[in-house]
Amino acid sequence: MNPRREFTHMRRVPFTCTLDCGSRCELIACVEDGRLMRIDTPPDRQDTPRFPRLIPCVRGRAHRRAQNAPDRVLQPLRRTGPRGSSAFCPISWDDALDEIAERLLRAREQQGPISILHATGAGSISGRGLSGADASRRFFSHWASVTEIAGNMSVHCVAMAQQWMLGSHLPGSDRATLLDSRLILLWGMNPAENHMGPNTAHFIAEARDRGARVVLLDPRYTDSGMLADEWVPLRPGTDAALAAAMAHVMIAEGLADTAFLERCTDGSEAYRRYLMGLDDDIPKTPAWAEPITGVDAEMIRRLARAYATERPAALLAGWGPQRTRYGEQSARALMALACVSGNVGLRGGGLGGYGTRGSGSEIALGSLPMGPYAPGRRLPPGSWAPAILEGQLHPAPALLYIVASNLVNRSPNSLANVAALAQVPFVVVHEPFMTPTARHADLVLPINTDLERSDLVTSWGHDSHLFYSQQAVASRGESRTDYWVFARLAERLGIGEKYTQGRSEQEWLDALLAESPMTLDDLARDGIVRCDPPPRVALEAFRRDPDAHPLSTRSGRIELRNHQAAAYGLPDIPAFVDTGNEPAGYPLQLVTPHHKLRSNSCLDANPWLHRLEPHTAWINSADAAAREIADGDTVIVEAPGGNIQIRAHVTPRIMPGVVSVAQGAWLALDAAGDDGGGCANTLTEHTLTPTGGPTTHTAWVQVRRLSDG
Ligand code: SF4
Repeated sequence: MNPRREFTHMRRVPFTCTLDCGSRCELIACVEDGRLMRIDTPPDRQDTPRFPRLIPCVRGRAHRRAQNAPDRVLQPLRRTGPRGSSAFCPISWDDALDEIAERLLRAREQQGPISILHATGAGSISGRGLSGADASRRFFSHWASVTEIAGNMSVHCVAMAQQWMLGSHLPGSDRATLLDSRLILLWGMNPAENHMGPNTAHFIAEARDRGARVVLLDPRYTDSGMLADEWVPLRPGTDAALAAAMAHVMIAEGLADTAFLERCTDGSEAYRRYLMGLDDDIPKTPAWAEPITGVDAEMIRRLARAYATERPAALLAGWGPQRTRYGEQSARALMALACVSGNVGLRGGGLGGYGTRGSGSEIALGSLPMGPYAPGRRLPPGSWAPAILEGQLHPAPALLYIVASNLVNRSPNSLANVAALAQVPFVVVHEPFMTPTARHADLVLPINTDLERSDLVTSWGHDSHLFYSQQAVASRGESRTDYWVFARLAERLGIGEKYTQGRSEQEWLDALLAESPMTLDDLARDGIVRCDPPPRVALEAFRRDPDAHPLSTRSGRIELRNHQAAAYGLPDIPAFVDTGNEPAGYPLQLVTPHHKLRSNSCLDANPWLHRLEPHTAWINSADAAAREIADGDTVIVEAPGGNIQIRAHVTPRIMPGVVSVAQGAWLALDAAGDDGGGCANTLTEHTLTPTGGPTTHTAWVQVRRLSDG
């Protein structure tokens, strides 16, 4: 092959993937004669320690393989066999859209609009701009007040805890401030795989090069262990106990920042009384915490002294600890610990959070405007299935319309989700791939991938970066954009003009930029605009002068004591609440983390990613030996609600007593009802936290060997 000829003839088209991965990167599609030849990154970008370029991960480069994945849906499909049987026949777009319009009208007239359920979120391709959730919300908002299945599965408990303690949900300090940290605690956070804001891992690595110490607290030695000096294995769901014991050490040894507690917090005396055991005669000492957390008491003392004295110290909390049975307490306890250490509001310190900008700051990007119909009812994404199965919905669902959401896979208790879908008379799914959710639909509509559509995309969690992701290749098969589908459905329902306002998709992109000084042409040149402002330190002004910059809590201070929590049956302080003992026969704790080769329930259709790293269950060497399981053996992981078959990865990288099955592999039920796909949510339950958050890191399993590998 002549590389010069290849270079000369290639078109280089900027695009970005819209995966809900914790970051957002620049990618270039290299296209020759309409064929996608490879995926590249832009050359010559500024790249300094303080202003790093946006570096894509393997998932972004794997988009080329996904284009031709065997599970790609290429035509509208109508179900011809039982739900889940994968028996479908192709139909025309006109027939599919006519049938959906007729079903929607019938459901609205006969059972009322709230009998129509509309689900979005965290799907096989996440939606942004004109695609996914915004396109479908706009459609329903112009047509009727339907029931919406939507909500925050990711940060429910931390948002609740911040609302109570800080008066609002704060994004945290910008990651570049980590360059000033002397100590970084990665508490259940895995930025090497999940990013948690663009370039988080870069800033941690850079801080370490400048002398910062990094400690990873996690049941697993994740890939973020590469960034750390030390790994402290911590039992899932016990974060509040470890935080309490560390705070106890700080108070007992005179290391607590009492000046900060007095000036900037409210309720610290109640928390101190809890820590010192003044009301229950149980001082929350390291010796008390050791059997709960699995962390050696001396290690707890060491951690506490370091966090209090090696200032500024950043406590970067992941979202796993708050997806536990009492996740509110984990989130509150980590914030309380940061307060006791006095690291709040310091450059290089901090209080967790996204580490990125909130919305509405740097770049004025509009969003598709909504119509007059607000949802008539809302169902949390963690509990829609029990609401159907237990007959809680009146009227009963007549139709479920799912857009950019692999609902069966992403929600806890996948087997119950399948059963719930079976109770809905008509299910429509928009999908590029034949996901487990699509397999249980009546109609599957083929949707474009990121490479086949143009859209405006903001960065994950903030809007200081704006991407113009441009269509690089023609649509495969008969796939279309979500917008295209809803525009035609709107026509059939007599709201076509309201939905499109006479605009093409390209004209909508121009309209979304109307408030901005930029035009699409400006954006098209580079594919991205970055407006990175100077790094911001969360709560810096508040720390300096809490009277002049009060929080929107009742006291204006950080409230360590919250009466709102008591209304949910929780302690009014960030006390540890025990999850309770394991159910008989299920001795191992299960965690279901995100994985570097998946993004929520996306990407399982890409065989290339499977080859890079097969889907496995992590089990500690001692637990495996006790069960005569060797690395690579096929095992069955059993939970009270379902079983999966999966290869075992026997490793010291997970603490004894804990098993890890990464989220994102797709449900694949065999005749016996076992899930050979290894979907993590086959093992989780619908149980919610006291305020309604998901509890996907509180589950118990047994592991048995099925065969030699
Ligand atoms: S998955 Fe996320 S980190 Fe990876 S390339 Fe896409 S946007 Fe970037």
